Amino acid sequence: NEITREKIVDDVKKENVRFLRLMFTDILGIIKNVEVPVSQLEKVLDGKMMFDGSSIEGFVRIHESDMYLKPDLDTWLVFPWEIETSRSGRVARLICDIANPDGSPFSGDPRTNLKRMMNEAKEMGFTSFNLGPEPEFFLFKLNEEHEITENLNDKGGYFDLAPTDLAENCRRDIVLELEDLGFEIEASHHEVAPGQHEIDWKYADAVEACDNIQTFKLIVKTVARKYGLHATFMAKPLFGINGSGMHCNMSLFKEEKNAFYDESDERELSQTAYQFLAGLLHHAPAYTAITNPTVNSYKRLVPGYEAPVYIAWSGSNRTPMIRIPASRGLSTRLEVRSVDPTANPYLALAVMLKAGLDGVKNEWMPPEETCDNIYEMNEHELEEHGIKSLPTSLHSALKVLKSDETIQSALGNHIYKNFYQSKMVEWDAYKASISQWEKDNYLHLY
Ligand code: GLN
Ligand code: MG
Ligand code: MG
Ligand code: MG
Repeated sequence: NEITREKIVDDVKKENVRFLRLMFTDILGIIKNVEVPVSQLEKVLDGKMMFDGSSIEGFVRIHESDMYLKPDLDTWLVFPWEIETSRSGRVARLICDIANPDGSPFSGDPRTNLKRMMNEAKEMGFTSFNLGPEPEFFLFKLNEEHEITENLNDKGGYFDLAPTDLAENCRRDIVLELEDLGFEIEASHHEVAPGQHEIDWKYADAVEACDNIQTFKLIVKTVARKYGLHATFMAKPLFGINGSGMHCNMSLFKEEKNAFYDESDERELSQTAYQFLAGLLHHAPAYTAITNPTVNSYKRLVPGYEAPVYIAWSGSNRTPMIRIPASRGLSTRLEVRSVDPTANPYLALAVMLKAGLDGVKNEWMPPEETCDNIYEMNEHELEEHGIKSLPTSLHSALKVLKSDETIQSALGNHIYKNFYQSKMVEWDAYKASISQWEKDNYLHLY
């Protein structure tokens, strides 16, 4: 650990911390937290805090419900704002792993599961799996009752400046808060759609990168509220304009060296990079249920909105699912563009890592690069190039996941079973609902 127990005890006194938030992420990717008064600090640091796991979606059954929260001291963070209670002070947080009553790691915990996958990578000689995410989100106005409306907060477009970009100060405030929390922000801009934004920060090793995504979402939502706005990471909130993706830039490192870089290759990519790419493409249909886990996710993966539809790769072209950005050396990386921000980041990284490593193990080579705009190809041309589509609904994605044991093994039995079950319930509920589109098109016609 880089952060010691002593430093935490010290910070609590110096920063007048009153409450501790113990955070973890459930199978559906939702951040949960148990808040305790700072008097419990010793017990927290000893990993003796318990919570009722049966109340968390997909965790455990009632009779085995008492789970331990094991804090990761390196995730210690004091939130920059003062609490508004009768006594002044601050709130701090620790991200926790979850352990069974007997102290063993709980296999239903997505963060613990990602660590298990990281060990597989380490056994193959890779010391880190770096992720640089590009989450996009929309800002909607709240009404007087603080309810979410369907009104976007501006009419801006890609890289627009104020006064069109009304969210400018809100976004600046988000960036400032994130910097206070130690994020190294690399870009922050208005996205293509009105009311849509993107903030990018420095890459980190898988588990830390996922912790950062969860923290990021929390901060974005909290700051937006102060501006009378609701921030949403829903994949496709409005028909007719772009949806929100979370492009994932990834690379494997061996100690200080980027294992994807090889200057002697014509593209300056290593064999490992090609094999990892091949694995990502091969298993794409099966892991899409994890990277695009909602009914709504599939309304983003349609032609014409800068989101991928086909399983292909390219060095420059932005329409395929995987792009290889131009930078080389330490920043050599693959950019998976299909992922959306509703994905549980810990699960998404676990399945993509598994897919890539499977390509490396089997020494697969990727199909040829796609240079043409695939949106413009007809069915015949797609077939000729051997280009397949990503699953087109949550239901078809779940069916492919069910047939791929490699990807299932990246989740482990507990997570796979619970994820599959709860997503099938979600699909069944959606399937039975009647949409506005159906009413508009059928009510008068039949
Ligand atoms: N919003 C697009 C998507 O759905 C991406 C747009 C971009 O970053 N160029 O992935
Ligand atoms: Mg971007
Ligand atoms: Mg973007
Ligand atoms: Mg991108």
